[in-house]
Amino acid sequence: MASTAQRILIVGGVAGGVSAAARLRRLNEDAEIIIFERGPHVSFANCGLPYYLGREIQEHGALTLESPQTLAEKLNLDVRIHHEVKSIDRQRREIEVWDSHNHVATRESYDALILAMGAAPIRPPIPGIDRPGHFTLRNIADMDVIEAWIREERPETAVIVGGGFIGLELAEQLDQRGIRVTVIEALDQVMAPLDLEMATLLHEELDRNEIALSLGDPVTAFVDPSLPDERGKASTVLLKSGERVAADLVVIGIGVRPETSLAREAGLELGDLGGIRVNERMQTSDPSIWAVGDVIEVKNPVTGQWSLVPLGGPANRQGRIAADTIVGRQSVYRGTLGTAILRLFSLTAGCTGVNEKTLQRLHVDYRAVHLHPNHHAGYYPNASRMAMKILFSPGDGRLLGAQIVGAAGVDKRIDVFATALQAGMTVHDLAALELSYAPPFGSAKDPVNLAGMIAQNILAGDVSMAHWPEALAASESSDSQKPLIMDVRDEDEFAEDSLPGAVNIPLSQVRDRLPELASHAERDIIVHCATGQRSYYACRILSQRGFRRVRNLSGALKTLNPMRVARASAAANADALPSSR
Ligand code: FAD
Repeated sequence: MASTAQRILIVGGVAGGVSAAARLRRLNEDAEIIIFERGPHVSFANCGLPYYLGREIQEHGALTLESPQTLAEKLNLDVRIHHEVKSIDRQRREIEVWDSHNHVATRESYDALILAMGAAPIRPPIPGIDRPGHFTLRNIADMDVIEAWIREERPETAVIVGGGFIGLELAEQLDQRGIRVTVIEALDQVMAPLDLEMATLLHEELDRNEIALSLGDPVTAFVDPSLPDERGKASTVLLKSGERVAADLVVIGIGVRPETSLAREAGLELGDLGGIRVNERMQTSDPSIWAVGDVIEVKNPVTGQWSLVPLGGPANRQGRIAADTIVGRQSVYRGTLGTAILRLFSLTAGCTGVNEKTLQRLHVDYRAVHLHPNHHAGYYPNASRMAMKILFSPGDGRLLGAQIVGAAGVDKRIDVFATALQAGMTVHDLAALELSYAPPFGSAKDPVNLAGMIAQNILAGDVSMAHWPEALAASESSDSQKPLIMDVRDEDEFAEDSLPGAVNIPLSQVRDRLPELASHAERDIIVHCATGQRSYYACRILSQRGFRRVRNLSGALKTLNPMRVARASAAANADALPSSR
């Protein structure tokens, strides 16, 4: 088998391919290792591309981490740029390579072959998409043509199609270049890995930063801007609703598709989602061929389902595991949780594991908790609240997923959750974690501990939760059977803003005013405050006094209010006529 492989060929010279090559060299000083990369660069920093366009990264050279020369010097790797692998002959264990620089075709034999071709941006056949000024962003060449367009055409407006990671990073960065940006997203939210109420916080952040956002309205055409009445140096972007947005620059960031043509033509097994299928040793259906990175399907350790997760961290780790197993080590890939993070202006959004939408789609039983803890001790200056959501199994309390949006402290908490998920921890484990604390960094009960403790309260039957959709419906309903909404904030808070139909009994008065609630003893009561803490205390009083159908509103107004505002503004927009921007 391949443990004795001496000639190892790698297709693709970025995250997955180069990690595999570097590890292979450390494990086998004698092997001949050749990387074929069809582009002009190897080992470049895709993840840095948006930040060069926004001028946060100023040096072009900072994006190219290595060159064929440095990789040859440091690791004795033979790196051939401008070399595209055209086909694989599995019988002979050979590949066909086209040297696009010298226009020469060669055949190369292998003992082991690693496929790390990545994924290509999806470019749907929308009329006008091939017009000048319409770009996708995957590599340095793509970045350079966008930069050239910005310098030459001096765009005042840009349309980003797609509100995923790359789309939002670009929206922020083009805004920093002084370009007025519109993000157009076909779904009803940006950042699909987040649930709607968490993504809504990003919608607000886009709005605060004057980035126009169009949701649930797909692009139907990029109209020739030279036609009468049209504007924009790139096109007029026409949406399904009839809305038209003039754009001097268009970037399409609606996702990527694994580059599997080589694998498909070679007869390797592909999965239903279109990626190469590999085992936990990163081997394809041909035991002499390994595959890593964006080109493969990965198992989600929480759901056990195959998925496509095009992220840099997994690609790097998979490359290392492929190298290990090629030399005969027993390394095993544990699957991909989809841990990811995004900065959007002053907010950070992080997620790991499974979201609520997915659990619902898979009919998995779960419980959800929303909380809004301070990122460090509240009494220490500049504490800011983060919105946190965890999902867990009602049986054993196993953590299933976490999402956080906030101004500070998000990165460290999401990584704790990711670690907990990989370790198969429960909410009881989260409550028990011993995490670092001093006032500038955290709280004696860290937000991760708090999330675990709230979940424990639910599992122990101390409190039941209601969630924002039900509270929103109850606040909008005229049905006499609807749940009673009880607001336990102080009177001045209630006077400032309250849910329609809510009754106000401040927490400090709940014990004394129980008689007022006697007639509601058999009714559903949803109790809320601002964040869910005071209403939890109120729920405990009520349930110990015989109110059996009392529930705490998860995340309280801090979770519900952004949804109320979003619904109201969506309704107002629906009444408005299509417009031109
Ligand atoms: P790639 O990095 O795509 O490399 C594949 C290489 O294979 C390409 O250079 C391609 O030219 C070459 N190739 C393909 N076919 C052939 C062939 N037949 N012959 C020879 N060569 C071939 N991930 C994160 O985790 N965090 C981030 O913040 C993040 N930001 C990103 C921002 C941008 C703008 C982009 C584009 C990606 C970002 N990613 C991020 C994703 C991350 O870059 C990818 O997941 C990672 O690069 C995948 O590595 P890979 O080796 O599988 O594929």
